[in-house]
Amino acid sequence: MVKGTYRFPLIPGHEFAGEVAEVGREAEGVKVGDSAAVIPLIPCKKCLYCRIGEYALCDDYDYLGSRTDGAFAEYVVAPAENLILLPEGVSFEMGALTEPGAVALHAIRQGGGIEAGSKVAVFGAGTIGLLVAQWAKILGAARVFVVDVVEKKLEVASELGFSDLINASETDPVDEIINGTGGLGVDLSVEAAGSKVALEGCIRAVRKLGRVVLAGNIETEVVLPQKTVSTILRHQLTLSGTWNSLFTSFPVDEWRTVLHFMQTGALKVGALITHRCTLEKAPDVFEMMYNRREFFNKVVFTP
Ligand SMILES: [Zn+2]
Repeated sequence: MVKGTYRFPLIPGHEFAGEVAEVGREAEGVKVGDSAAVIPLIPCKKCLYCRIGEYALCDDYDYLGSRTDGAFAEYVVAPAENLILLPEGVSFEMGALTEPGAVALHAIRQGGGIEAGSKVAVFGAGTIGLLVAQWAKILGAARVFVVDVVEKKLEVASELGFSDLINASETDPVDEIINGTGGLGVDLSVEAAGSKVALEGCIRAVRKLGRVVLAGNIETEVVLPQKTVSTILRHQLTLSGTWNSLFTSFPVDEWRTVLHFMQTGALKVGALITHRCTLEKAPDVFEMMYNRREFFNKVVFTP
């Protein structure tokens, strides 16, 4: 999580794509020169959850860029089966964003999916939030409200074609959403900000029988007001957690679905990238990010 890598010292980098430089003797399905995105999680394949294909829930996993060396290096070693080949027209830069794209799709699926004509609210317009919002649109949502407190993030949302933008530092997003849905509330809200205020907003912005997905990492204690908890009960809401993405190709191949929609141009990641730099610049860039000296979303390093 944000505090650093699980093991230290270690080379970070878990969202990446690249060219296959060398192939192990027993590796299947890839050859030198192939372009691929890489699933960072290496499951134990022994635990109960691995045995049912829920690798993201593995009890004893390895993880490129957090538990073992990752991609902020010239070369990275990964199991062949973790490679997802990039289709025509999907660049390395786009491929590197397959992971957050899959995390966003998984979040919506954890929330019960989206029906054509649904109304959705996304609290938090960072990378995951804006990918969730794009999936909502791709999957047929009629309205997608995007909420944040940072105007720059809402500008990126606007660039991506969203028009129901709410700056929560200027107006009450719940009022806006309730008014904007004829007093009903949205069908699904996604908490992608990692904040108590956003979580409460998500709960209050959904209609009765609505669904809330908790996708943001919350780093503070959260105490919900009695009234909000009562709303969960009385409105019979469903709150779901989401973690990582699905690493198996069934029932939905989340990673290849991301790549497919990147290829068609429906899932746009270019606007989410604020910085492009070489690896040599990495220390300066991390310092900038740590001290929040500039507005940033995704930073992409290239050799
Ligand atoms: Zn396992």
